[in-house]
Amino acid sequence: MNPNIAELIEICELDRSLYEIRAQLEKYPQLLAGLDEADAKLAGALASARSGLAAATESRRKAELEVRDLRARVAKFEGQQSQVKTNKEMSAIIEEIRLVREHIDEHDTAGLEALEAEETISADIARLEGEAEALASENKAERERIAIQIDEKEENREGRAEEREVRFNRLPLELREMYELIDERFPGTAVVPVRDGFCGGCNMSLVAKKTSEVRSSEGQARCENCSRILYFAD
Ligand SMILES: [Zn+2]
Repeated sequence: MNPNIAELIEICELDRSLYEIRAQLEKYPQLLAGLDEADAKLAGALASARSGLAAATESRRKAELEVRDLRARVAKFEGQQSQVKTNKEMSAIIEEIRLVREHIDEHDTAGLEALEAEETISADIARLEGEAEALASENKAERERIAIQIDEKEENREGRAEEREVRFNRLPLELREMYELIDERFPGTAVVPVRDGFCGGCNMSLVAKKTSEVRSSEGQARCENCSRILYFAD
């Protein structure tokens, strides 16, 4: 085999792994964004539960104040009962007291409902806080794992890229230019084996003459269909 072709096979292999590593590295930002999104979603649910709790507490306090004021009014009417002089006045006061007590009932009910809401929302908040804590530690571990993987892949990439450059720069300029043009079209598969008379890149059947040319080639045989550089693989 032409030693330059042997070298190009190695370079192509390195390029293929470099493309793979790059594709893997490109996935990490999305993974990290997914973690941030999950954090933000839970934080949003917690914030909305907390504001729901504050609203329920405010409703309950308001109802309690209303009940207190209305009870004071009932007490005032009851005080007036001893001073009334006519049955008509008495009936009017009794009617007033009845109406105020109705309002007290309404506010009592509203206060109880708000209290129930406070209890439900408080339980939700406790659950969400537990989930947020678990998620935070899970995500921290995941971010650390990703950071380690990124470092490893970057290091691997640098090592391979350096080796690739050293090997590549030893080749004749013409061959380098040809390889780069093909690699641009077919990243990582510019150099492919011929198997059973087929191009290992485009799977096109090669004429027998081409196959024997590849087998015996001291130069560079290329696929007539895709123009990839061919080598013979047993
Ligand atoms: Zn081909």
